[in-house]
Amino acid sequence: MKVIKSPTKLQNEISKIRKSKTIALVPTMGALHEGHLSLVKLAKKKADVVIVSIFVNPTQFGPKEDLNTYPRPLKSDLAKLKKLGVPIVFTPQKEDLYNKDHQSWIHVEKVTKGLCGAKRPGHFRGVATIVFKLLMITNPHIAIFGCKDYQQLVTIQTMIRDLNIPIKIIGAPIVREKDGLAMSSRNTYLSIEERTLALRLNQGLKIVKRTCQQGTLSVKTLGSIFQKTIGSHKKLKIDYFECRHKKSLEELKMVKPGETLVACAVFVGKTRLIDNIII
Ligand code: AMP
Repeated sequence: MKVIKSPTKLQNEISKIRKSKTIALVPTMGALHEGHLSLVKLAKKKADVVIVSIFVNPTQFGPKEDLNTYPRPLKSDLAKLKKLGVPIVFTPQKEDLYNKDHQSWIHVEKVTKGLCGAKRPGHFRGVATIVFKLLMITNPHIAIFGCKDYQQLVTIQTMIRDLNIPIKIIGAPIVREKDGLAMSSRNTYLSIEERTLALRLNQGLKIVKRTCQQGTLSVKTLGSIFQKTIGSHKKLKIDYFECRHKKSLEELKMVKPGETLVACAVFVGKTRLIDNIII
């Protein structure tokens, strides 16, 4: 397994590979769990060569967010990727990707409004820009993203469409713990008590789904039901609960069966967790 820090070295390596093989990129921020590894396994099925990038991208973190404390267990990440037979891991440093005088950004307009976009100003500008850069450097045929970060997936799909980038974007399903909690690198922040409280996100979404299936489609009513499931524990605070069209991300007042993304963000203690479900 080659671990490459330099964008130029990686580009040289890739230009050789690309003559005869297809390439899939899996961008990550590391602290790899089974969710990330599912993307790698899917990538292996879709292309000859898989490149995984590990980079905690500073420009997608807000000033009060967890950039400094974000877990960076590089050694164990590399061991996991080696075990899966990943041939190339890209591990750039901030200086390798951002010039001191960096001034070029990708701004995807409509789909970044609302949901996490409203709560994390500048987040999707950072995401779209780093993904664009990683795509330019690695020049893959395919790139794989998780539906866990649903708005991110739609943002990238929109950028690819709007900027005529000839790369296929694949969305992979959310991988959950046995008890339903969506896997996330941020789950490591949770205390035992918070880990139990965090189950309420998925429980709430499942109750919302069941309620919809029984015929209640009003988003306002579903929001109250979600709020009830989250409850009034002092360590739980809903950041948002929203229903959006699964493709356009347009806000919905009534659930459209088969076409609706139900998404939430909830603070569990100081940790902000997100989850979603398609109804
Ligand atoms: P991150 O390291 O959090 O930036 O995530 C890297 C990629 O893994 C993104 O495309 C995420 O959507 C995806 N991902 C994170 N958690 C999960 C999960 N539980 N299931 C599936 N994909 C995930």
